[in-house]
Amino acid sequence: MSRAQISANALKVLYRLKSNGYQSYLVGGCVRDLLLGLEPKDFDVVTDASPEQVKAVFRNCRLIGRRFRLAHVHFGREIIEVATFRGSAHDESGTERVHENGRLLRDNVYGTIEEDVWRRDFTVNALYYNIRDFSIIDYVDGYNDHQQGVLRLIGDSAVRYREDPVRMLRAVRFSAKLDFQLDSDSAGAIGGMAELLQDVPSARLYDEILKLFLSGAAVRVFELLENYRLFAVLFPDTDKRLRQSKGDYPRALLLQALANTDSRIAEGKPVTPYFLLAAFLWDAVQSLVAIKVQEGMNVFLAFQEAGNEVIAFQVKYTAFPKRVGLSMREVWGLQPRFEQRGGARAFRILAHPRFRAAYDFLVLRADTGNADPELAQWWTDFQEADNERKKEMVRSVQGVKKRGRRRKTTTRDKRVVIS
Ligand code: ATP
Ligand code: MG
Repeated sequence: MSRAQISANALKVLYRLKSNGYQSYLVGGCVRDLLLGLEPKDFDVVTDASPEQVKAVFRNCRLIGRRFRLAHVHFGREIIEVATFRGSAHDESGTERVHENGRLLRDNVYGTIEEDVWRRDFTVNALYYNIRDFSIIDYVDGYNDHQQGVLRLIGDSAVRYREDPVRMLRAVRFSAKLDFQLDSDSAGAIGGMAELLQDVPSARLYDEILKLFLSGAAVRVFELLENYRLFAVLFPDTDKRLRQSKGDYPRALLLQALANTDSRIAEGKPVTPYFLLAAFLWDAVQSLVAIKVQEGMNVFLAFQEAGNEVIAFQVKYTAFPKRVGLSMREVWGLQPRFEQRGGARAFRILAHPRFRAAYDFLVLRADTGNADPELAQWWTDFQEADNERKKEMVRSVQGVKKRGRRRKTTTRDKRVVIS
């Protein structure tokens, strides 16, 4: 393992703890990723020093968490998290620490490294790197699993999922991101346990969803979530629509959105969660709009109401921040407006703060058979055109529209909602 890849700040923390007479190790995802030659997202340190003792060693240190206190050592924008060894949930007092349904209640007892290892989820996440002699401490045969590319839960899989059902999602995420194979016990136990995720707070599920779909392997994540029937627990309505649909459209749109996200991440471009969520929920929004328009509602109002209703349903499963919901509604609400390009309208749409995302969404729809490719092309050209040309483009669609309108007045509103 190359030490050059270890953050200089993490090394500082490790050495400082050591020179103060404490044990200190890197642990978890950073060791796992370094062994694969990947750049770790963050560096986690464990020690036998209590949080208060850690704080006494570092000036730039804050203690966080009430239930289990952690030390955060700040270096500008980088934070090195230092945790004290935790007692295991599987020692002789184990029965006291789990809820009757098997959920972990108390996980807040300090322990030794030998105990700390058992509370970790996968064997490849339970490798401790010792800077003292550059060795890896491995109590669970995790190094061998790592070499084989196997993701294996420590202990009894069913017990571990029941303790914390989010581990099922972590299994999918690591399997997709690292291209590791879930071992048969860890995979088999997911069947019949997916529903346990319903008891996990929706805010935690949202955090996990972000990690899942912004991991750079979103397409694979989605396939695995479907295979293990976990997707249905997170997005029940989307799942139902995907299964009921006959044509290519909702699935193609979703897969394309996921693939786009993966390539943007690979290129180092920014990604926004609301765009992906807007794609997940788009089919539901469109169907609701169609019903409302049929009942005589104005199409723009229908989009607002449908958006609100779809979001209100989904947040029961995966809470998301208000601003995410707002951005999704803006992206959806701009879709019918793209068809109305006359007068100053096209210019107003172009100036809308959410134009870029909404345009990308239109292209996504056009690419997957859900919108007129000519319309998407028009907007592509319109953005690139100079001002004179823009005016010309607007004039020419006005002509087309007028002719169309004389023939049939309701064509426009209907076209917006037909998928
Ligand atoms: P990444 O940071 O790449 O998402 P990670 O494995 O470091 O992956 P973290 O959430 O940062 O994941 O957690 C750090 C370590 O803490 C894990 O490697 C694992 O050992 C332990 N851990 C985290 N979450 C859980 C959990 N739900 N159950 C058991 N152990 C966990
Ligand atoms: Mg980590």
